[in-house]
Amino acid sequence: MAHKEILAAALLTDADLTGGALEVNSPIDGALLGSLATHSVSDVQAMIAQAKSAFNAWKLVPAPRRGELIRLFGEELRTAKEELGALVTLECGKILQEGLGEVQEMIDICDLAVGQSRQLFGLTIASERPGHTMRETWHPLGVAGVITAFNFPVAPFAWNFALAIVCGDPVIWKPSEKTPLSAIATARIFEKAVKRFGEAPEGLLQVAIGGGEIGEVLTTSRDVALISATGSTRMGKIVGPKVAERFGKTVLELGGNNAMIVAPSADLENAVRAIVFSAVGTCGQRCTSLRRLIVHADVREELVERLKGVYAKLPIGDPLAHGTLVGPLIDADANTSMKKALEQAKAEGGTVTGGGKAEGVTGGYYVHPAIVEIPRQTDIVRHETFAPILYVMTYRTLEEAIILQNDVPQGLSSCIFSTDVRETEIFLSAAGSDCGIANVNIGPSGAEIGGAFGGEKETGGGRESGSDAWKAYMRRQTNTVNYSRELPLAQGIKFEI
Ligand code: NAD
Repeated sequence: MAHKEILAAALLTDADLTGGALEVNSPIDGALLGSLATHSVSDVQAMIAQAKSAFNAWKLVPAPRRGELIRLFGEELRTAKEELGALVTLECGKILQEGLGEVQEMIDICDLAVGQSRQLFGLTIASERPGHTMRETWHPLGVAGVITAFNFPVAPFAWNFALAIVCGDPVIWKPSEKTPLSAIATARIFEKAVKRFGEAPEGLLQVAIGGGEIGEVLTTSRDVALISATGSTRMGKIVGPKVAERFGKTVLELGGNNAMIVAPSADLENAVRAIVFSAVGTCGQRCTSLRRLIVHADVREELVERLKGVYAKLPIGDPLAHGTLVGPLIDADANTSMKKALEQAKAEGGTVTGGGKAEGVTGGYYVHPAIVEIPRQTDIVRHETFAPILYVMTYRTLEEAIILQNDVPQGLSSCIFSTDVRETEIFLSAAGSDCGIANVNIGPSGAEIGGAFGGEKETGGGRESGSDAWKAYMRRQTNTVNYSRELPLAQGIKFEI
């Protein structure tokens, strides 16, 4: 499909695509998709006021009824899956299968949130006082500001949005300035659900278009109760303290530097498939991309040879075309970062296979994914370069492998390939991986929405999506109720008047 048809199918109009200074280019061929008007500081302040007023109405709507709106949103997303998936591919360059996968993830989290809307459970707690009972209840929190990155233009938004809405919180979404069109199209799909729902207050979802300065209006506003920010650790280091300064809440989903340990007992066939999907998928631009391979000396040669064989034949090119597995990098800056990282890796003793411009594809930044065999975990290995570079290191004992795995500033995702249950259980134990996600016999990326998603250390500590991640969008209240005719004090304190 031509670019114009994809934009039109996603219901984007000329009015959306013209009239401003924010140029959005497709990484596929550099074509200009639109020159968008950005929002001003006062526009965003007006959005916050609108969201506040929506909160006052929405927090009183029963949670299962709020879930009904998300059920309808999920239905609309099912109808629009092909169109939105293609737009995601057009705007951020991931292959169509992954664009569609992102929309499927949105649908999945809507399903989860609908169920969750009937399960915003509190607790009943035993009181030490006679004729008393204690409870813990969960109430809507307030306006949520959701800031997202270019590499997943829609799914992390939906992880936040679907739960925030069932929990009673309106959302202001500040998408990446590199992928605002997917956000505008998503908001349009949500509008359809709102229309069918009938009685939702204005402003449950507003999209603020612009760069970091627009995000900052949200992070510094006392009227935005929660900031959920996905992006680089650099951004998190600015956003975290800004929100903390005003005692706001944050969910931070920042950079990763994910590793796989491959043990001698590993099923190498499956390991190769998992490595390639995780290391070259989305052209190495997933927060969960596999960046470090820690291989046992006994299987290293065989595994690396197999990988080099697969890498040499990777179909690189137009991500909309059937059969492509590696699309382009997002832009020139990403290409420069990759080149610089490979130079530094060489200077630090690495041997590079691949890397460099892919032949026969023009217009975008198409590169050969690189394998870098490196004797130590050097500075460049410990740094997240957002490009398809896989560093390979060798280990002899599991202890040594786990030390290498954990010795980076980031703590998002990790995995081990081994059929030795002692090894895999150690890896998952307190003596093992220090990451938010630790997998056995699958790669580090491609998470399901049922689990809590996020990581430790410089990844920011936030958790989104499944498990009890919904609690981030609510405030906890402890209630003590006295149904007796006395007034006993806790801890047996006597206070007679
Ligand atoms: P980025 O940090 O450049 O931008 C992310 C978002 O933050 C954008 O919307 C940007 O406009 C906004 N932003 C930047 N400065 C800001 C400020 N001062 N105040 C408020 N908002 C600000 O990241 P990117 O290049 O778009 O994405 C790649 C990075 O995101 C990688 O590091 C990747 O690992 C990370 N990421 C993490 C996860 C996760 O769940 N942990 C998921 C996807 C991407």
